[in-house]
Amino acid sequence: MDEHVIGTYVRAEPRFVQGQGAELVDEHGDSYLDLLGGIAVNALGHGHPGLSAALHDQLDRVVHVSNLFRHELTETVATQIAHATGLHSVFFTNSGTESVEAALKVARKHHHEAGGRHGIVALHSGFHGRTMGALSVTSHEPYRAPFAPLVPGVSFVTPGDTEALTRAFEAGPPPAAMIVEPIQGEGGIVELPHAFLQQVRALCDETGTVLIHDEVQCGTGRTGTFLAGDHAGIKPDVVTLAKPLGAGLPMGAIVVREELARTLVPGDHGSTFAGGALACRAAHVLLTELENGLLETVRARGEQLRHGLLQLQQHHAIVTEVRGRGLMLGIRLERNAPTLQRALFERRVITNCTAGDVVRFLPPYVISAAQIEQALDVIAGCLADL
Ligand SMILES: *Cc1c(COP(=O)(O)O)cnc(C)c1O
Repeated sequence: MDEHVIGTYVRAEPRFVQGQGAELVDEHGDSYLDLLGGIAVNALGHGHPGLSAALHDQLDRVVHVSNLFRHELTETVATQIAHATGLHSVFFTNSGTESVEAALKVARKHHHEAGGRHGIVALHSGFHGRTMGALSVTSHEPYRAPFAPLVPGVSFVTPGDTEALTRAFEAGPPPAAMIVEPIQGEGGIVELPHAFLQQVRALCDETGTVLIHDEVQCGTGRTGTFLAGDHAGIKPDVVTLAKPLGAGLPMGAIVVREELARTLVPGDHGSTFAGGALACRAAHVLLTELENGLLETVRARGEQLRHGLLQLQQHHAIVTEVRGRGLMLGIRLERNAPTLQRALFERRVITNCTAGDVVRFLPPYVISAAQIEQALDVIAGCLADL
């Protein structure tokens, strides 16, 4: 089995063949409650009627025309993203790691004419993707070591360590860019202290460093505001988006401030597939839902799940922390987090274990209140058995 698929992922049985909302059904007809949403991707869940109808319609019209021509959907979606983020201009990509690459290139190009500034500051336990540039700003050594040498000029700071942060800015010429996830996803659903995020913003302002918020996982409405940086009241210079943006289709974007809108010019960067009509149609459906009340739903369901998890924490000492916001939540366990994840899976609740000790919940935004209650019951049962 899987003879012709390169084994970069450890795949679990079963094979899912269809789904509805936050429910997935396998080849034997067994249904699972999906609290992972394709790793933060399926914002509208599975089998969403509005998405399905729109994509069928788009398939019959046009799927791809290339970026050498205009397409109305590309412009519509860019405008929706600009309004939702309060930033100005969009470059489309096909994935999170490509968004990070594009963001780093904007920062380098911005400082290119001035000369001398190319350093990038990133955070320990951050995750930004697997391509050479994105990997270079990802600190996790096992991901990096086999692929060295990586892009030079990157330094890492521990989140919350304000002295190390200041040192990184004062060690030489100011950095060209700093990249942070306002809520670290792969790092274990760790919300950075707002004071730290504000200090990063202030240092970037003082030094003219391009501040990149990587919101590939925490953005696009996941935490109940369009951007997670909104909770700390911070506007970055560049924000990266992907995972839920295409509601299941490969789709990413960077959004930049107006001052950076003309940094990249023809010839500087590109992507053949990015911003294609089909992916944009999917994003258009999701963004329109977010404009029409879905953000409030995320907040309500997020509060419900968080509240339930906090109650579980009171009854189960093994749960040391409830982390995150909106529908980006995790519980940190003193031990046995992978065991809990497997036990949940045996009871047909899909989650994922990250950073070794955190069970992570990234459910579709359309998960129902009843499904959250059901999930909490199953989690309580599994915790009792641990
Ligand atoms: C997943 C992720 C990426 C990489 O996205 P891909 O679509 O897998 O390339 C980058 N940054 C963050 C914060 C992520 O969570």
